[in-house]
Amino acid sequence: MKYDIAIIGGGPSGMMAAGRAGELGANVILLEKNFKLGVKLLATGGGRANITNFKSNMELANSFGSKGHWLLSGLSKFGPKELIEFFNVRGLKTKIEENNRVFPQSNSAQDVLQVLIDYLKSSKVEVRLKVEVKSVVKTENKIKKLILSDGKEILADKFIICSGGKAHPSTGSTGDAYIWLKQLGHTIIDPRPALTPVILSDKFIKDLEGLSLKEVKISCYQNNKKLCSAIGSVIFTANGISGPIILNMSEIIGRQDPKDLQIKIDFFPDLDFSQLDKKLQEDFSSSNKIFKNALNQLIPPKLVDTLIDLSGIDPFKKLNLITKEERKTLLYLLKEFNLTVSGLAGYDIAMATAGGVDLKEVDSKTMQSKIIENLYLAGEILDLNGPTGGYNLQLCWTSGYLAGENAIF
Ligand SMILES: Cc1cc2nc3c(=O)[nH]c(=O)nc-3n(C[C@H](O)[C@H](O)[C@H](O)COP(=O)(O)OP(=O)(O)OC[C@H]3O[C@@H](n4cnc5c(N)ncnc54)[C@H](O)[C@@H]3O)c2cc1C
Repeated sequence: MKYDIAIIGGGPSGMMAAGRAGELGANVILLEKNFKLGVKLLATGGGRANITNFKSNMELANSFGSKGHWLLSGLSKFGPKELIEFFNVRGLKTKIEENNRVFPQSNSAQDVLQVLIDYLKSSKVEVRLKVEVKSVVKTENKIKKLILSDGKEILADKFIICSGGKAHPSTGSTGDAYIWLKQLGHTIIDPRPALTPVILSDKFIKDLEGLSLKEVKISCYQNNKKLCSAIGSVIFTANGISGPIILNMSEIIGRQDPKDLQIKIDFFPDLDFSQLDKKLQEDFSSSNKIFKNALNQLIPPKLVDTLIDLSGIDPFKKLNLITKEERKTLLYLLKEFNLTVSGLAGYDIAMATAGGVDLKEVDSKTMQSKIIENLYLAGEILDLNGPTGGYNLQLCWTSGYLAGENAIF
């Protein structure tokens, strides 16, 4: 049997593409190697699925950085507004949380998946689970068929590759398509983990595991030149730091040689150096409290011993005996707490993949390959990735919808 459209990958982009093409009357097969659809989708937003970010299409596109404009025409066809409506008319109520992040009102990624499964059913898509595509066969400038791991073949007029990137390979996203796409003549921008924690080499890091800080300023430096900076929360892990601002910075960090990088934490971003110094002077000058107890009131208890070690100040020294030099040392530790980057956590932990199919080779209005006539691409396989906050799923919905809609012609 020959299908109108064969789609590889039952993630958000593949389900959206299949549903849309089927809804418009195409005879569609969706191939997924897992035993169920949307395995990664279920893990999104901590199981709550942050499905999009509700802002203007222009602002949303800009959040993807310099390549974001590529998504603009797609967003004008199927952006956050259309997506929310898509879910709402299918019975899934949504809510908007802090920073415009959109979630299902039920806080359940499973409910999001169920809408997509129902969409596939009503669009009469043939879903085949536990089938792995092994290779793609091309004749002249067209894909002719797919070969499955059991040797069977899938014939179709059009093909949509939605097999994701390499992040969280345990969910099935193992980067299989990069090899086929290279063989088909596409350029693959080197994939690397994105939205992933930063690994630090400082010995004291293991003592800080579990420490969570709110409203601190994080800055990343390369050889003392500031690369980026943001205010927000961070969490210390067994070997590094994580949290939304760190995950977002990992994109910039991943592009540099880690050996030249430092991260500095400003624990008091609301006070400049002289204001904080004044506060320390006032607190210290007439107090005969001991240093360690004073620090306990200034910073989270978990940080106190590390700061004492790094400052070299006797923890039992009376505050009014602390010298100006000692106060300056403390001031720098509080304003520029220095951490040494050794790299990024890998694909096992990463939430996204940077790199992928070069956008210059994909028509942004239709998601059609400019290299292979009957091929369309959608989702994380593309060389576009955004920060945390619903952007990456919106990329999948937009590109999947466009690919499904355009592949029917
Ligand atoms: C822990 C975590 C939390 C996240 N939270 C959010 C969030 O809240 N909001 C947000 O916007 N983004 C989030 N993301 C990112 C988001 O999940 C991805 O952007 C999105 O899942 C990518 O969708 P996709 O359809 O392109 O690929 P995937 O979801 O990776 O789906 C690809 C599918 O293709 C299948 N496949 C691969 N190769 C083959 C093959 N050879 N044969 C058959 N099938 C194959 C895979 O099994 C997989 O099911 C999160 C990611 C992670 C890991």
